[in-house]
Amino acid sequence: MIELTRVTKRYGDKAVVDDLSLTVARGAFFVLVGPSGSGKSTTLKMINRLVGIDAGAIAVDGRNVRDMPAEALRRGMGYVIQSIGLFPHWTVADNIATVPRLLRWPEARVRARVAELIALLQLDAAEVARKYPHELSGGQQQRIGVARALAADPGIVLMDEPFGALDPITRDALQGEIARIHAATEKTIVFVTHDMDEALRLGTEIAILDQGRLVQCGSPADILRSPANDFVRTFVGGAD
Ligand code: ADP
Ligand code: MG
Repeated sequence: MIELTRVTKRYGDKAVVDDLSLTVARGAFFVLVGPSGSGKSTTLKMINRLVGIDAGAIAVDGRNVRDMPAEALRRGMGYVIQSIGLFPHWTVADNIATVPRLLRWPEARVRARVAELIALLQLDAAEVARKYPHELSGGQQQRIGVARALAADPGIVLMDEPFGALDPITRDALQGEIARIHAATEKTIVFVTHDMDEALRLGTEIAILDQGRLVQCGSPADILRSPANDFVRTFVGGAD
């Protein structure tokens, strides 16, 4: 569903993503994991064309992203980042409805979809209708960010350290929710984290990056059973 072929991105003379090839299968929970600065966010942003590439190619559903209008490409992909970026002067419900309204869905359909997402994410319907983002906890805001990304039912959801700023208990709850949503909706998720525990818990497929290069790609079991090198061994060893 998403194919990166020998992708390189340079800033100055440094290749921050270096000759990276990856295949993300439809329905995968694909985790890109690596230390800070290893090129994870840049990789995600190349997939939705927030960042251009210097060499190689990226295809989504068999089409080169370079040949797709960026707006259309992004509407087919939800995107959740750590600093949620909800619109502060809109109610939570209006935040969730952002993309469906951009797509000019009839208002009745928008409302029905918001109601579905309230159920899917176990949100409080009265709160969603009435409250503004700053009136919610960080965990609730992040849940709204996930609901907003899912609103127009994109086939692909890109998530960049979405739970990184949360306390451990809230993070654990949201990890459980995103796993449940993945199982229920069969979406293709590309999830970025620097946390190997999180990668092993959530991923059906894990790609480990170090300094812009792919070190190993496989199922959690593959990686635990046969780490490709000392870097992976140490990285996995740090997880419990
Ligand atoms: P990660 O998400 O794994 O922490 P990033 O993809 O954000 O890593 O960054 C990879 C490297 O690229 C880092 O060294 C970072 O400083 C550099 N980098 C990222 N974005 C830019 C930019 N816009 N300009 C210059 N350097 C950048
Ligand atoms: Mg990052």
